[in-house]
Amino acid sequence: MSNYVHDQWIEGTGTGIVLYDPIQGTALASADATGLDLNAAYGWARQTGGPALRSMGYSARAAMLGRIVDVLQVNKEKYYDIALSNSGTVKSDSAIDIDGGIYTLSWYAKAGAKLNSQAFLTDGEAVPLARDNAFATQHIQVPIQGLALLINAFNFPSWGLWEKAAPALLSGVPIVVKPATSTALLTYEMIRDVVEAKILPPGAISLICGRPEGLLDALNGLDIVSFTGSADTAATLRSHPRIMHDGAKLNAETDSINSAILGPDADPASIQLLVREVVRELTIKSGQKCTAIRRIFVPESTYDTIAQSLALSLAKVTVGDPRKDGIRMGSLVNLAQQKAVRAGVATLEKHADILFDGRRQLTIDAPADSACFPPVLFGVRQPDEHPLVHDVEVFGPVATLIPYRDIDHAWQLARRGMGSLVASVYSEDTALLAQAAFALGDSHGRVHLVTDAVSRIHTGHGNVMPQSNHGGPGRAGGGEELGGLRALRFYHRLVAVQSAPEVLKHLAG
Ligand code: NAP
Repeated sequence: MSNYVHDQWIEGTGTGIVLYDPIQGTALASADATGLDLNAAYGWARQTGGPALRSMGYSARAAMLGRIVDVLQVNKEKYYDIALSNSGTVKSDSAIDIDGGIYTLSWYAKAGAKLNSQAFLTDGEAVPLARDNAFATQHIQVPIQGLALLINAFNFPSWGLWEKAAPALLSGVPIVVKPATSTALLTYEMIRDVVEAKILPPGAISLICGRPEGLLDALNGLDIVSFTGSADTAATLRSHPRIMHDGAKLNAETDSINSAILGPDADPASIQLLVREVVRELTIKSGQKCTAIRRIFVPESTYDTIAQSLALSLAKVTVGDPRKDGIRMGSLVNLAQQKAVRAGVATLEKHADILFDGRRQLTIDAPADSACFPPVLFGVRQPDEHPLVHDVEVFGPVATLIPYRDIDHAWQLARRGMGSLVASVYSEDTALLAQAAFALGDSHGRVHLVTDAVSRIHTGHGNVMPQSNHGGPGRAGGGEELGGLRALRFYHRLVAVQSAPEVLKHLAG
């Protein structure tokens, strides 16, 4: 894979990092950015891409997003093939990444079409600062004139790219994309197709593959970084001088010990909804989703029934090579992740009971040296005494069932994740569900409340919708993404303009 900087495809001068098929073990491509002049590349993006994008206005940029959607739609089959070979995912999992990314882009194309063609957005009404409104203040949101460095995690090479690129480009901000190396091939092909279609003005998009030196050194204090990945990498980025000292803005989406909670009313319909959702979340993308359910809280009296029900459903999951018929769950992304999941399971095994062990109970229909890993369900009966289940994110098909005494205990336990992306609650008690929003809101970015009435139409515990906020406090990174047009705020700066009413009217007009 080449890198795309100052509107040229440039190969790295190093040996590169090889990307593999996690099931067949075949080498697919290599990533290398050695020798790139990142100062020159970032300068080109700021000085060429920024002004060209900003001169277009919001609605024209929204139309540009629409044209990207068209190009991606035409090439979709190719993207599915890449996802299969580089991520080892079954078709429905690849769809979450590929179609999810395209849907997010098209949502911003439509929402952005309704924005004005001005250079900036107004924020609220003018407010008087002097008697007779002779002097007033108006807030405006001005697109940043730096660049946005988009650093993505391996599990969503398409969605992770477009959910960040859409609001950035709509805001008029040039993007420099740094995909996670192990799955960068899909990002690379998508960007290659968009570049060839000549949709974006020069300098608007750059792509850096591999792990170059100085990725953040070449930023300045007026650039921004939108990061998705582990809490450890986020901590490294936060302490970088461009961010810590120079003030470049960082949005971090990191890992999370998300919860699903069965309400105390626990009727058969809610139990069925919970079980279905937990099994989906454990198996979609082999549990490699930042929003996946990691802890399942149920009333003490239902613990055994739900443990059995989950084990019965998990016993039916077919794991293996997605090229084979009937396979429901594909592979982990690579052998390194398989090793990390094994280590995580070994850690939890010391503190929790095993309620379902796919390693013993399922046959994996793939070569023995593939990166597949079957679902494992843990249980702890004394959750207050087992801090690790609230702390260890095993990034694979692994979750823990936990009983609670009463609903306040459930809220407290969910909070022990110390900041999560999402919690879902299953109940027919509408007052309890409304209470959940308030009880969980301080420690969660999204609260997903499910009754039987919405069982067929709800968007899913783990699905991130462009209309809703994505991000969580504390260990989840403290970031905010999406949430409709709110996402544009990160790519703008808030300015308080103070002047005479005639000037402010001119500004608004
Ligand atoms: P990761 O190892 O933290 O890597 C994330 C990205 O950061 C990759 O592009 C990586 O590049 C890059 N990176 C690593 N070290 C860097 C450094 N010192 N400077 C600049 N960039 C650096 O995470 P991952 O293994 O790809 O993803 C799994 C984790 O992401 C899980 O913990 C999961 O919960 C989290 N995640 C969170 C969300 C969310 O929205 N909150 C979504 C998806 C995943 P290389 O690949 O080249 O190392």
